[in-house]
Order: sequence, then structure tokens, then C-alpha cells
Amino acid sequence: MDFAETLKRLVELQRTDSGLDDLEKLKKGFLLEIQNLDGAVTDLKGQIQIEKKNLEDLLKQRKTLEIEIGSLDTKITKYQGQENEVKSNEQFAALKHEIEKSREDKGKVEEKVLECLFKEDEQKQKIQNLTGQLAQAEKKAAEDKKNHQQKIADCEKAVVDKNEDRKKQFAEIPQEFAEGYESLRSHGKKVAVAEAREDQTCGGCNMNVPPQILNEMRKNIGIQRCNCGRYLYVKD
Ligand SMILES: [Zn+2]
Repeated sequence: MDFAETLKRLVELQRTDSGLDDLEKLKKGFLLEIQNLDGAVTDLKGQIQIEKKNLEDLLKQRKTLEIEIGSLDTKITKYQGQENEVKSNEQFAALKHEIEKSREDKGKVEEKVLECLFKEDEQKQKIQNLTGQLAQAEKKAAEDKKNHQQKIADCEKAVVDKNEDRKKQFAEIPQEFAEGYESLRSHGKKVAVAEAREDQTCGGCNMNVPPQILNEMRKNIGIQRCNCGRYLYVKD
């Protein structure tokens, strides 16, 4: 096989492989998007859990305050019962003072209860909003995932087809070059067959292609490689 034909086949193989690489990237992108959709749902669920816990804390706090009010009520009732039993004016005044003080305390606690109730309402609203957001996120995730999964399936089908082409193309390349090509690809040079551009740079490494190599290419006497190892071709 003459080298021009071999080079042409290498270019075709590269085109197929680049197509496969693109499909792989595309597929990864869709998988990542699916992950992100799931992540958004999980995040919202976590947030709702936290806010529900905060609401529980508020309810507990209020319960404690209400018990406190109950104790103060008991105390006030007890003092009021003692009012008829006191013997002196001093005792009576002291009792009055205690009752006043307990009522003041009760008033303060009742204010705290109101604060709690207000915060509970806010908290419930927050949970309701988040629950709405979650429902939307779940709906969007379900729809988009279905879409992405279809696209992934399309990619996979295209990969199967391209791999068929690739097998045929690869079999038609002389062993030396086929191996050289595979070696470049397996060493991270996904573009193993690069264009020698008009500005005399390599399409793979972007460095200048040495004049010596350009000369050889012009003479059409064999397949040339850039210093980076890649096979070089010139666009028609
Ligand atoms: Zn190069």
C-alpha cells in the first residue's frame, strides 16, 4: 500500500476515533447533569429536614414556657389563698408583693410564648416553600432525566455503529502504523494524526513543525511525524 493511501486511512481512523471521543464526552456530560439533578433534590430534602428540626425545637421551647406559666399560675393561686390567713399588715404586703412579682414573671414568659408562635409560623412557611421547591425539582429531575437517558442511549447506539466502522478501518491500516497510532492514543495523544497547518504548526502540539519535516512532506516520500510523535497530514 502506498503511503498516501495509508495516511488517508489514518486520517479517517482519527476522524472516527475523535467522533467516539466526542460521544464519550457527550455521554459523560449527560450523566453529570443527571447527577446534578439528583443532587438538587437531595439538597432540598436535607434543607427541609433541618427546618423541620428547627420547628420541633421551637415547639419544645414553647412547651417548656407553657409549663413555666402553669407553675406561676399555681404559685399565684396559692398566694391568693394565703391572703385570708395572714395575721399582720406586713405579711399581707409581702404576699401582695409576691403575687405582683409572679404576675410580672408570667407576663414576661407569655411574651416569649408569643415570640415562639410567631417564629413557628415563619418556620412553617419556610418548610412549605421548600416543599413546593422540592416538588418542582423532583418533577424537573424526572422529566430531564428521561430526556438525558434517551440521549445517552442514542450516544451508546452511535458508539456501537462507530466501533463497527473503526474495526474495519483499523484492519485496513498496515500494522506498523496501526500500532504506532494505538501507542500514541494510549499515551494520551487522543489526536494521533494531526494536521500540519498552513502556518506550519502541528494541530496536535501547536508547536512549529521543523522545516526538515515539512520538506519531506512536500517531497511526498513517506509518512512524517512531528517531534511530538504525531503523524502529520496536510488538508486537501
Ligand atoms: Zn506535534
